[in-house]
Amino acid sequence: MDGLDAHAVVQAIQHCLPDEHQRWGLHEPCIEGSEWAYVKQCLDSGWVSSSGEFVDRFEKELAEFTGAAHAVATVNGTAALHLCLKLAGVAADDEVLTPALTFVATTNAVAYCGAVPHFVDCDRKTLGVDPVRLDGYLQEVCEPGDGQCVNKLTGRVVRALVVMHTFGHPADLDALKGVCEAHGIALVEDAAEALGSYYHGRHVGHDGVVGALSFNGNKIVTTGGGGAILTDDAELARQARHLSTVAKVSHPWRYEHDQIGYNYRMPNINAAMGCAQMEQLPGFLRNKRALAACYRDAFRDVSGVEFIEEAADVQGNCWLNALLLDERHSGQRDALLELAHREGLLLRPVWQLQHRLPMYRECPRMALEVAEALELRLINIPSSAALGERHAGG
Ligand SMILES: *Cc1c(COP(=O)(O)O)cnc(C)c1O
Repeated sequence: MDGLDAHAVVQAIQHCLPDEHQRWGLHEPCIEGSEWAYVKQCLDSGWVSSSGEFVDRFEKELAEFTGAAHAVATVNGTAALHLCLKLAGVAADDEVLTPALTFVATTNAVAYCGAVPHFVDCDRKTLGVDPVRLDGYLQEVCEPGDGQCVNKLTGRVVRALVVMHTFGHPADLDALKGVCEAHGIALVEDAAEALGSYYHGRHVGHDGVVGALSFNGNKIVTTGGGGAILTDDAELARQARHLSTVAKVSHPWRYEHDQIGYNYRMPNINAAMGCAQMEQLPGFLRNKRALAACYRDAFRDVSGVEFIEEAADVQGNCWLNALLLDERHSGQRDALLELAHREGLLLRPVWQLQHRLPMYRECPRMALEVAEALELRLINIPSSAALGERHAGG
């Protein structure tokens, strides 16, 4: 059989869903805990803005859950990432290595610093940055200098590498850390999709200098909008708090600011919702894992398509489940998406690769053969935590 059996794909997905005749988005929030109670408590207290007990509590819970020494809550994940890059020392005219396969916010955060995104390729298995090919590339491109990497072609300093944990699958952090150390490059993690993901038993997001989380409406834990900076470094955490509160110097009544700061602190009302969501996170993870297991089994016998499974020694959060069409079927992606949408399954193709976007077309890049081989074949399928409930056994 030459063509892709799109009906078989749709049926395998439907097999794992509670009701085949409903519409299923990719990721819907699950608001079934104390959200109303905590938000009401927040409103009743009058502390609705950028300080209050829920912000402190949310940060403490994030630090405890991830094992990071510090968490600083922000208005969204992009703002967290912007500050992460600044804290890692990224300045105007630096270059920042960043995946071609990612959501546009990763790249935008680099651009907000006045730095130049330099796109790197991903690994076929983890979907994160490929450490082996990156190392080889940097050996070619970097002028060996005094402990930093200078791009021979552009003369710019390559200051940082952003590693993104795609769909919650941890990238190969040990190897990537080694590459960064060897080349004098700071490691920053975009862990926006990866709350609840573990690499060799360690929660991701604080292996580098700093890391960013997101609590957007489609993430595993949502605060409506929100993000956080994770770090094990007390001084960087202090700077993150300072920069995210317009660099205001503490004083009972004076307006004093000692640098250009940002209004990036998470409001208490969002943190109230976050505290309620954190209480449910273990359940979300259990349900999402059970849903992923159902998909994995259902796709075992469907030809022409592969369910993306986690790599060895890691445990992802199963944030977004993904299918990979066989190479010969890449031309049938859109027909499959259309059929699925007609059936109420709101599947989505993976993001456009970053070097295809008009504002980033001229940015430096390595050969992106893996990302380019995947771009027309990766498809996300419904992954909301609620869908896994019946598979997790209640
Ligand atoms: C969601 C996301 C972000 C941005 O987070 P926001 O909270 O939406 O600003 C950044 N990077 C990746 C990979 C994401 O998925």
